[in-house]
Amino acid sequence: MGTAYRTLVLRYDLSRLPPNVAEKVPALLKVQEEFRRWATEWALSGGKESMPERSPLKYFAKVFLHAGRTLDWLYGVKNGVKPKRLRPPLVFDAQLRLGNEKDVSRGVFVDVPKREVRVRRWSGKRSETIVLSLGDKAVEWIVARVREGGRLVLAAAWVGASRRSRTAKLYVALVFRREATPMQLKRLFVVDLNALHNGVAWAVVEGERILKRGVLRPDVSKLMHLQKRIAELDSLCANKGKACEEAMAAKSRLWRMLRSFEDDVAKELIWLARKRKAAIVVDVPYDVSIRRLKEGGYVAERKVFLNFGHLRKRLRRLAEWYGVPYREEHLYSTICPRCGAEMEELPNRRVRCACGFEAHRDEVPVLWAVKRFRELTSPFLKQIIKPG
Ligand SMILES: [Zn+2]
Repeated sequence: MGTAYRTLVLRYDLSRLPPNVAEKVPALLKVQEEFRRWATEWALSGGKESMPERSPLKYFAKVFLHAGRTLDWLYGVKNGVKPKRLRPPLVFDAQLRLGNEKDVSRGVFVDVPKREVRVRRWSGKRSETIVLSLGDKAVEWIVARVREGGRLVLAAAWVGASRRSRTAKLYVALVFRREATPMQLKRLFVVDLNALHNGVAWAVVEGERILKRGVLRPDVSKLMHLQKRIAELDSLCANKGKACEEAMAAKSRLWRMLRSFEDDVAKELIWLARKRKAAIVVDVPYDVSIRRLKEGGYVAERKVFLNFGHLRKRLRRLAEWYGVPYREEHLYSTICPRCGAEMEELPNRRVRCACGFEAHRDEVPVLWAVKRFRELTSPFLKQIIKPG
């Protein structure tokens, strides 16, 4: 059994909150700052700093340390890395109501029938509550996790500016935990992480056979168009002004498009792997080859497609959640799977070997997975037997 976590982050634009909610945010922010000061002291003291005595800080310190034990997010702190400043969110114990369960007064109460999230215990006054709305998509997500056996174990809230736009938002994160039973596996699901504009190639391999393969592609022309627009705006933007703002907006649109493509691809790939009871092998290019691509004659506009760190992380998380064995490998794409010689690269992403082997570049890693099938499937077995 492996324990896996998934988090739903709810975002609320401060400017769009109803006035009776918005007026409470400054007080929440104040508690957040106080708590961060304590957390920093605590980290600097190597965990020896005493617990705060008054509420709500006492409550937050307790839940924070408890969460740190279960989630390992204080890993660095515990291992003696002393940060200058710790910026944790306010962590709450939480309860999820799906029907008519009794409210047991936890810090965050997610009331699905009422479509509400109640944030409490952040003020000295017990009755002070921030009531936020819960949208359809969030409800859908929550219900899906519960159906899969997930349980709400923690919540976190913080006020901050998002990395991309500079507007302040109120964030509430709901953390679900699931005990995943590792899947029995007979097959490999090979995923080729290449530059995103070439699409993400996948294949199902069983023994010496490739059962099925496919490619998931983003809307490249749309992305390229947006990139061109960004370049134009960037050249018009000297210092400040309308062009700069538009450039910023276009950049965040591009970023969102790539993100949502990556999220969709991750979901689709995991679904495909589960359907075929296959363990996932992600072919990750060597950092060197990516660096070479980024520095070299690679068209500047395309560089953005090479950052697939997010996709990789999503895949790993989802695989954990569903108990799909997952590993990352370096599979060759220019070494001949038949004779092992370095192959010649032809136009249109084809490769050819002196021995007569010729293929599309994307097919080669899969052939290597076929060749290494036994080796690639065996450590998974160990992984399943290993406790925890
Ligand atoms: Zn060859």
